[in-house]
Parts: sequence; structure tokens; C-alpha cells
Amino acid sequence: MLVLFVPLAALAGWIIGRRGGERHSDSQVSKLSTTYFRGLNYLLNEQPDKAIELFLHIAELDKDTFETQVALGHLFRRRGEVDRAIRLHQALAQRPELTDAQKVQALSALGEDYMRSGLLDRAETVFADLARIDQRAPQALRHLIAIYQSERDWEKAIENASRFEAATGEPMGKLIAQFECELAARQRSAGDTEAARASLARAYAADPTSVRAGIAEGRLEAEAGRHAAAIRAFERAARHDPDYLPDILPMLQESYAQVGERSGARAFLAEMCEHYRGIAPVLALARMVEAEEGVGAARRYLAQQLKDRPSVRGEAALIDLTLADDADASSALHDLKHITDQLLVRNPSYRCNRCGFGARSHHWQCPSCKEWGTVKPLLNYAVV
Ligand SMILES: [Zn+2]
Repeated sequence: MLVLFVPLAALAGWIIGRRGGERHSDSQVSKLSTTYFRGLNYLLNEQPDKAIELFLHIAELDKDTFETQVALGHLFRRRGEVDRAIRLHQALAQRPELTDAQKVQALSALGEDYMRSGLLDRAETVFADLARIDQRAPQALRHLIAIYQSERDWEKAIENASRFEAATGEPMGKLIAQFECELAARQRSAGDTEAARASLARAYAADPTSVRAGIAEGRLEAEAGRHAAAIRAFERAARHDPDYLPDILPMLQESYAQVGERSGARAFLAEMCEHYRGIAPVLALARMVEAEEGVGAARRYLAQQLKDRPSVRGEAALIDLTLADDADASSALHDLKHITDQLLVRNPSYRCNRCGFGARSHHWQCPSCKEWGTVKPLLNYAVV
């Protein structure tokens, strides 16, 4: 904070000095003010209100200096007076004496004004012009990508992301894959399955680990009745990121059922149980065990698994299997009690509402963020 006041104080001193009749030569004044306005431009990011009046005052004295006027436009935009910023930057960009670099700077500022005021078509025109100038291309392309995203023009978003990657070397594959998947979703709902397949293939090319492309491909193939291909796509997606397993599993199980292929399915689910800590693959496996070996075997399998990964959803499934099994209720109750005890021990009963730290006993001072009085009893319906 303190550092803000040093240049401001110096600036105020300079104004007072001028008022007091102390004359600098014009070039000195211009150089001085240019320096201050550059500094102020940064300052404005922290404390625009305090800097604003000083700034406007000096800008009046210095109408001809390019830097000053660019900074003034920046100020208008930050204050929300975008129309004023646009008028200023438009006038600035049309000045005949500008160097190429200044012209580019004025146009960039104008493009940002248009973005801010939601005039995306005008921003697009300005940035498309700027993108043709090598030096400014990355920044302009970044804006164009944002514009085409908000317009949901995925082809142009992809094209500009590719150009951005080529210009900067910054990898854009993950973003391009998302855009291709958006395109595929649109083509699929328009009934153009072949175009959707091609878009998904390009998504994979851009990001070989794209979970979204795998899920979309699986859906597309399942809809077309090609369940073996759907299974390959869903399994690939789940392997790339097991966190998506709860969403993928219902579709995958449907395709397994259509193909009637059980041993591969069980092997895959067992593999997922190793890589995913949640209960979803265990429950899916329990259903397969139930279908193939009966309720009793499924109940024993699930009870065994729940010892390692206690879960409320797992308990609910175990109760269902026990009711269906219609035997050995006391042994089942024993298992359920054991699992419930583990759930109670594992779940924190208190949580800091500032930093999210979880604890099993109460602390008046949060052990993690050191704030006082922020750790409170947790309203957790799985535990309380
Ligand atoms: Zn805390």
C-alpha cells in the first residue's frame, strides 16, 4: 500500500510546483508526465479512485502526448465509461502522425473497449486486423479465441487456437479438443453422425487423453448400435481419468449388457476398483456377481469390499441385498455396524468455514489457517 503513495505524492508535488509558477521546458514536462502516466497506469490497477482525480487533472495539461491519452482511455474503461474510452481511442487511432507501433497500441486498446462493451463484432474486426501484424498476433488471437467461444463459433475458435499455438508454441490441444467436442455435439444433434465422428477424431488428435471425446464417441457408437465400439471408447475414457467413472459406468454397463460379454466387463471393473477409490465400480461388480452367482455371493462380495472402502451408498446396496437374500440378518447387521463405525471415524465432525480444514475434535483456533472461531460442528447427514 505504502508504495502507492510515493509516486502519487511526487506527482502532487509536481502539480503544485507547476501551479507555483515553476516552469519546465515543454519537452521536460512531456517526458516527466509520460513517466508518471506510465507509473499511474500500473497504480490504477490497485487504487483507481485515489489516482483518478490527479490523473484527469494532468491529462488536461497534456492533450498531445500519445502515452497520456492511451492511459486516459484505459482509465475511462476501468471506470466503466466505455463509450468515452471508445471515442478517445478511435480518435487516437486516426491521428495521422502515429508510428506503426502507436497505431497498433491504439487499435489494441480500442479492441479491448469493444470487448468490454460487448460489441463483439467490432472487436472481432479490430483484432482480426491486428492478428495480421506478427508482433501483436498472440494477444489479438487470444481475444479472437474468447470472442468466438462466446459466439459459440467453434470452427473459428479452433482455427484461431491453432494459429495461436503456431505463433507462440503454447500447447492448445486440450482447448481445441473441447471445441471439437462442442462441434461434434452440435453435429450429432443435427443428425450428422459422420461429421460428428470426424470432429471427435480431430479432438483425439488434438488431445489424445480427452475424456470428453471418449464419452462422446461411446454415446455416438451406442446410439448407432455399435456397442463393441462404444465399450472401447467408454473404457478408454475411464482409463484416462477414473474420476469420471460414476458418469461413464451406467452407459458402459448398458453396452456390456447389449453385447452380452461378461468376463471382459468383470475384468475391466476389477481393474477400475484398483484405480478408483469410490464405490461405483464395486457396486457395478456386485450387480454382475448377483446376476451370475446369486444374491448371497453378491452380498458377501460387497460386505468384504466395504471393509476397505466404507460408503453410505455401499451400505444402502448391502441392505438391499440382505433384504433380498432373506437370510443371515444378524451377520449382515454385524457387517453394517462395522462399516458404520468406520464411516464415523473417517469423516471429520468439524470444519473450518474459512479454509475448509476438517477435524474430528473441536479447536477454537483453526490448526491450519490460524483463524479464531471459524471451526464449527459439521452438519453432515452421513454422520450426524
Ligand atoms: Zn482454517
